[in-house]
Amino acid sequence: MSVQVIAIDGPAGSGKSSVARALAAALGWSFLDTGAMYRAVTVEALHTGIDVHDVSAMGELARSVKLTTLPRVSVNGRDVEDEIRTETVNEAVSIVAANALVRHQMVRRQREFADEQPLGTVVEGRDITTVVFPNATLKVFLTASLVERSRRRGEEGEASVARRDVADSTRLASPLRQAPDALVLDTTGRKVDDAVEEIMQWLKNQTLS
Ligand code: C5P
Repeated sequence: MSVQVIAIDGPAGSGKSSVARALAAALGWSFLDTGAMYRAVTVEALHTGIDVHDVSAMGELARSVKLTTLPRVSVNGRDVEDEIRTETVNEAVSIVAANALVRHQMVRRQREFADEQPLGTVVEGRDITTVVFPNATLKVFLTASLVERSRRRGEEGEASVARRDVADSTRLASPLRQAPDALVLDTTGRKVDDAVEEIMQWLKNQTLS
């Protein structure tokens, strides 16, 4: 593939966003938080009164909405950075993410984003190593104990994190799976910089081999 991508998957609170953001900064690459994209589409549906269970209406919304994640998450020009992390969105996003029409549009947008970046992109989510960029330069699967992941998610709480784990890994459309060729990193008790250093080492080894 011509574009450089480091693909990172893992369950909620495994450290994907912090690690991917810091890794992108260290490399001078772009960063894409795909969870924020699913959250932003969910916020827009709730805002405009579209039923999140309406498969085709949600697919059309995902196709037509104007979406940016950096420097702040916005939909149709509205800043939703704070709104995407609310309890209502935590609950509804799993329904939206299980919609194959929505996923199709998100995957298209994610590939387009990576295509446009001058150097490379660190992309994190649930299906990045398996579906979106199966030929990524490097594939990483982050894990951590449920207790630590819930602690990192703060107000969301262990029950909600566990519920999303089940929903994300048992849905029919692109469930969360560990790609057979992904390198696994358990971030329990590890600092972000430490994880970044390990991944940088993997990248170096990959480039040399
Ligand atoms: O990563 P984050 O917790 O913000 O993701 C929110 C939700 O978006 C996940 O629980 C999952 O349902 C969905 N998601 C997804 N595929 C991705 C990224 C996120 O299904 N690539």
